[in-house]
Amino acid sequence: MKNIKDTLIIGAGLSGLTVAWKLRQIPDHSFLLLEQSDRTGGAIWSHPENGYLAEGGPHGFLDNCPESIALLKETGLDQECVTAPLSKFVRYVCMNGSLKLIPQTPAKILAAPLISPLEKLRVVADLWKKPLAGEPTVSEWVDYRFGKALLPYVDAVFTGTYAGDLERLVIDGVMPGVRQIEKEHGSVIRGLLKKIKAAGKNTGKKKGLPAMTSFPQGMTRLAERLSQELDTEKELLTACPVNTLSRENEYWQVETAKGSFFARNLVLALPVNRALALLASLGAPPPQVKVAEARIVTIALGFGEGASLPPGFGYLTPEQEQRFCLGALFSSNMFPQRAPEGHILLEALVGGRRHPERLEIDDATLIRESVKDLQGLLNLPGEPTYARVLRPRGGIPQLEAGYPALLQWRNTLMQKEKGLYITGFGWEGIGLNDMIKTACRVSEAIKAGEQDSGEQEAAVKKVYF
Ligand SMILES: Cc1cc2nc3c(=O)[nH]c(=O)nc-3n(C[C@H](O)[C@H](O)[C@H](O)COP(=O)(O)OP(=O)(O)OC[C@H]3O[C@@H](n4cnc5c(N)ncnc54)[C@H](O)[C@@H]3O)c2cc1C
Repeated sequence: MKNIKDTLIIGAGLSGLTVAWKLRQIPDHSFLLLEQSDRTGGAIWSHPENGYLAEGGPHGFLDNCPESIALLKETGLDQECVTAPLSKFVRYVCMNGSLKLIPQTPAKILAAPLISPLEKLRVVADLWKKPLAGEPTVSEWVDYRFGKALLPYVDAVFTGTYAGDLERLVIDGVMPGVRQIEKEHGSVIRGLLKKIKAAGKNTGKKKGLPAMTSFPQGMTRLAERLSQELDTEKELLTACPVNTLSRENEYWQVETAKGSFFARNLVLALPVNRALALLASLGAPPPQVKVAEARIVTIALGFGEGASLPPGFGYLTPEQEQRFCLGALFSSNMFPQRAPEGHILLEALVGGRRHPERLEIDDATLIRESVKDLQGLLNLPGEPTYARVLRPRGGIPQLEAGYPALLQWRNTLMQKEKGLYITGFGWEGIGLNDMIKTACRVSEAIKAGEQDSGEQEAAVKKVYF
């Protein structure tokens, strides 16, 4: 048997690269990362052009995840990163055709006139509500616990994170931590207050609002740094799609155009649908063969003299506003070096789970319609001095009906199949921090020679607009 490694990793996006980075730290552990594309990074894709720097994929991550902070330190990237603290950069939600500023702390949000006093009383009714049974959608759950008035704001949150539809995303999928609190305490508000009180005693925790983190060259720098020390013959093979996988005694075998490879451990670091396609050959039928994905396009727009942006990160639009763009990032506010001197850069997002038809629109029309939409909300006189449509190849996996059962199926499979580890985009969350956290757990399990149970504490993620 040739080409034997301790571990094979399929997929060199952030998940696979993080696993590889961590496995390099285990003495005498051999691994090989197999990537179908000719570049690493997967969904991460920065686009520098004409003095502008836009992102076709993720724009950054919040510096509130211990595993990500540790990875930045280990790679030395903590010395390079650029940050935009949430405390300094407000966000907006488009309501009734104009931008409403959303305060960043719960107390300020409660005090703000975002909803009427009567609607605020309805929010507090959560204290007397029983846990909602079944697998409710986000919209059903929010309506039941807090009332309809919050729906447009929650819509904006899930548009900003999943490009999703709150009438299809399930609360057990997207907010398992909050759901657990509901089940344990009956009321979400009561449970959260208890948690905050307990956390107050934990003096070791970083307090205050986190910061959006990226790099002067954009997010591509993260993938580049994680790939940098990999031996491109022994540890990383690009342009090498894995076609099938199988098991021969204690060895996993994968077939690629560049030959067969064998290892005791096999890590699938792939978006859910790519993993499900490969796992089909194992003969363990999943409860669903595919999950829905939301695709978006980014329309990067530069404006010169006379144009200005309100302070802050950007805005999001709930569906009820019926606008063309899902929202826009005020990129040159966050990271001023992303536009030439005297210019601003905005990145509008179009499409998402509810408007896949807009992905079919040609570039010129996308630019024209986005500019028209943005000019109705912002001070952007004249035509853009720069415009580029970025079309990411992949979509964002949606945690909709049946997702909890799918995750359970994966966990059972990982327990049953020795040496099999399944991580990546959409399995346990969709954000960069989720990917790093889970990749670290997988590499720890490999290091310890243990199976990954896939179980992790359902953490309560704070919501930032
Ligand atoms: C448009 C967009 C915007 C986003 N914005 C943000 C954001 O602002 N903040 C944030 O935290 N997150 C954001 N995300 C999510 C973030 O990008 C993902 O969490 C993360 O990049 C996923 O990494 P991954 O390695 O799990 O998957 P991927 O990045 O998808 O990587 C998987 C890799 O596997 C390879 N592959 C697939 N099939 C095979 C095969 N058969 N054989 C070999 N290789 C294979 C692919 O080519 C790819 O390189 C965004 C995602 C998208 C799409």
